[in-house]
Amino acid sequence: MRVRIGLLAGTFAVLLWLEWRRPLRRTVEPKRRRLGRNLAIAALGALAVQTVEMPVVLPLAGLVERRGLGLLHLVPLPTWAALPLALVLMDYTLWVWHVLTHRVPWLWRFHVVHHADLDLDASTALRFHFAELAISVVWRAGQVAVIGVGPGALVAWQTALLVSTMFHHSNVRLPYRLERALVRVVVTPRMHGIHHSQVRGETNSNYSVVFSWWDRLHRTLGLNIPQSDIVIGVPAYADPADNRVLNNLLLPFRRQRDYWRRLDGTPVERDRPTLPEKRSRMAE
Ligand SMILES: [Zn+2]
Repeated sequence: MRVRIGLLAGTFAVLLWLEWRRPLRRTVEPKRRRLGRNLAIAALGALAVQTVEMPVVLPLAGLVERRGLGLLHLVPLPTWAALPLALVLMDYTLWVWHVLTHRVPWLWRFHVVHHADLDLDASTALRFHFAELAISVVWRAGQVAVIGVGPGALVAWQTALLVSTMFHHSNVRLPYRLERALVRVVVTPRMHGIHHSQVRGETNSNYSVVFSWWDRLHRTLGLNIPQSDIVIGVPAYADPADNRVLNNLLLPFRRQRDYWRRLDGTPVERDRPTLPEKRSRMAE
């Protein structure tokens, strides 16, 4: 537990330092204000995880292991094979859940709070509406039961998920060639930056969480948008007042705006649509 917390806090601190030294995108808001707001939303989210997710999912994982339930128990597997397989299957089914949170309107109401951030950095990784986290417990329980994930693999996966999420949300400029190599396997800051663009077609791409394979497989990958061309956020919720803690928490329960139009009614589109055949080539 202590090692885990140290690893997560250490990752966050290193990313914070790198964001200050080597920023990837220009930012709109001061860092302190963003950190305060996102950590307040994150604290409520952490409470939801501790009070709703853990009491359901952890005992379920124990039961799955004792009774030998789920896909991974259909054939006897050595630990060195079972653990990576559990992580890969959890990641793939999380990709499916992420697509659902974008495509199912009542789920998007909650997920949009995460996307309404006006900048993108490691703190955005922790900024999820507590109700989205509570609702996702149903999916998480299904993942654990169907795949057959025991408590050890579940905790390993949760740790990998948080480290990866903080990394790909971070505003860190990695050397281009390094990132181009990394993105073949894992989700990187440039790849995920496109997922937070104000352009609808760009937000509805790059759903992967740990491994980038799932978007290649489903042709939902788009890497050819330069980061300097990206405006982060959701057009209808880009007013700084929308981004106060209370307004973020109330957003899902209020009448929804036309997400992809600015407040003055103009749609957000890209002037020069990029060529679809070059979508898998990462832009700087
Ligand atoms: Zn999303």
